[in-house]
Amino acid sequence: MSKYAAPLTDMRFALYDVLGAEALWARLPGGEAASRDVVDAVLDEAARFAEQVLAPLNQSGDQEGCHFANGVVTTPKGFKEAYAQFCDGGWPALNASEEYGGQHVPEGVGAAVKEMLDSANLSWANFPLLSHGASEALRQHGEEWQREVFLKPIVSGKWTGTMCLTEPHCGTDLGLLKTKAEPSADGSYRITGTKIFITAGEHDMAGNIIHLVLARLPDAPPGTKGISLFIVPKFKVARDGTVGERNTLACGSIEHKMGIKASATCVMNFDGAEGYLIGQPNKGLNAMFTMMNTARIAVGYQGLALTERAYQNSLAYARDRLQMRSLSGPKRPDKPADPLIVHPDIRRMLLTQKAYAEGGRVLGYYAALLVDTIERSEDAAERQRADELLGFITPIVKALLTETAQESTYCALQIFGGHGYIAEWGMEQFQRDARITTIYEGTTQIQALDLLGRKIMQLQGAGLRHFVEEISAFCHAEQANPELIEFIKPLAELTQEWIGLTQEIGRKAMADAEEMGAAAVDYLFYAGHIALAYFWARSVAAADASASHGAEFKQAKRLTARFFYSRLLPRTRGHIAAIRAGAESLMAMPDALFG
Ligand SMILES: Cc1cc2nc3c(=O)[nH]c(=O)nc-3n(C[C@H](O)[C@H](O)[C@H](O)COP(=O)(O)OP(=O)(O)OC[C@H]3O[C@@H](n4cnc5c(N)ncnc54)[C@H](O)[C@@H]3O)c2cc1C
Repeated sequence: MSKYAAPLTDMRFALYDVLGAEALWARLPGGEAASRDVVDAVLDEAARFAEQVLAPLNQSGDQEGCHFANGVVTTPKGFKEAYAQFCDGGWPALNASEEYGGQHVPEGVGAAVKEMLDSANLSWANFPLLSHGASEALRQHGEEWQREVFLKPIVSGKWTGTMCLTEPHCGTDLGLLKTKAEPSADGSYRITGTKIFITAGEHDMAGNIIHLVLARLPDAPPGTKGISLFIVPKFKVARDGTVGERNTLACGSIEHKMGIKASATCVMNFDGAEGYLIGQPNKGLNAMFTMMNTARIAVGYQGLALTERAYQNSLAYARDRLQMRSLSGPKRPDKPADPLIVHPDIRRMLLTQKAYAEGGRVLGYYAALLVDTIERSEDAAERQRADELLGFITPIVKALLTETAQESTYCALQIFGGHGYIAEWGMEQFQRDARITTIYEGTTQIQALDLLGRKIMQLQGAGLRHFVEEISAFCHAEQANPELIEFIKPLAELTQEWIGLTQEIGRKAMADAEEMGAAAVDYLFYAGHIALAYFWARSVAAADASASHGAEFKQAKRLTARFFYSRLLPRTRGHIAAIRAGAESLMAMPDALFG
């Protein structure tokens, strides 16, 4: 069975030493309560829950899966009880506003907690996942009575939320969706249609399930401009909060899938179900984007979480498993062979995981601290800057952390050899579970188009500009530091190249729109690796400056950063070459000649 120990030292290093979270929270209204003692206690308790309650259910949940009979979904053994403990511990309310019973702990803390839950048991963590986004959508777009009635039970975990977008013929392209909403005389709506792939659409953990459903009003214009958002509860809820009869909606089946087998992925049939409009008619996508942005960052953490757990297990195995002798002579002559960790290529795979886990953690938590600034800062200019930066960094967090999780879980399995391929050790489960993370909440391709097409080209790259300025200021401040020069010089050069490359793509895309689509995914990886290079340089600087970390910790950070700069950052050369090759080699082939 695979093991999990929450990487608390590195989490605290990322939050406090690299990103300066303590000082940020101390100056943001309401953040002062998040003192180091309080946050440390929260992280310790979350680690205990993740390690002792959730992690032991990960493999058994995968083997058992969810059960479906007559519209009822039963979760695997132990899941329901773990959810009850989660609610008793107040975890669903961690980041929610105090007005609705939440604890309003900063998102940066929530990010670390979320990483632990996902590492311990990704399938289980998917059940409460969308409640967070649903409560944000309700808080920001709901009417007063909707907030009163629905938010408190979602915040407490008594009820859970879902996000119902996808239909059989409509996944990426939401403009195609057909689900209908007919107004009723009482001000509510009758929702009719089929949604597929709905995470936690039906389960046995909570008393009610609040579906947020995208549907079309009768007079709605076609495409994405005619989509509205509705609250559709499993059990009807009156305006005074009284829970009534079962609504006319049901789970038709659950999917049998490659990974996250213990997460219920449901076909949901809405048959004239009673629902309530949330936000403005035909502006449903705006409200849904609130949920989607939160969920996109959250899925990025899922990738990070699997990278971390896969790394921990493959490292332990590489230290333990004896195979072959080191090329430069025996390292453990007392044993019949040397441990795997002596071999250069095993070290390459371990360091790849370590560099993506620790660098990715700083990137992921950076996004969470931007959310804290947006939510709490009293300075409008600071909020706007954070908002633009978050919009820019979100597709990178989502796509890069989930794509690198594919490689990391691959490396972990490979280190286990044949023992990785069989189920017993749990490595193949991580690879299967990781696979969905590049698909749901917008595929990697869609994140890349969002980054390059929308966030950079359409919005004139405000977020990119802030990010590049931030990197340049860091490089400028550290340029005379001999301990950092090996990182600062290439980082400063790459940042300049990045600006030029972005302008180059913009010019080509003006002449031929296909150039954008042809460049997008390579551009995202290129940008993502420069972002990681920045966070690795900051990590080395923070480790050097830290009084609370010892010499070994500092050395490990420096050596991992060196590995990242010499072995992973050069991937930007391949990406820039592919970008500059342009659309021609992709579009020249007539469809008929593909074979
Ligand atoms: C386990 C699981 C859980 C899910 N949970 C939910 C949920 O809770 N709620 C919900 O609403 N949905 C959910 N989904 C649906 C998920 O978000 C969609 O599968 C995803 O958005 C992709 O849609 P699709 O599968 O229809 O693929 P398609 O949209 O058909 O896309 C197929 C491929 O084409 C690519 N593609 C499409 N358009 C372009 C383009 N313009 N440029 C380049 N490439 C393009 C895509 O990237 C993808 O690789 C879930 C799916 C799964 C498998």
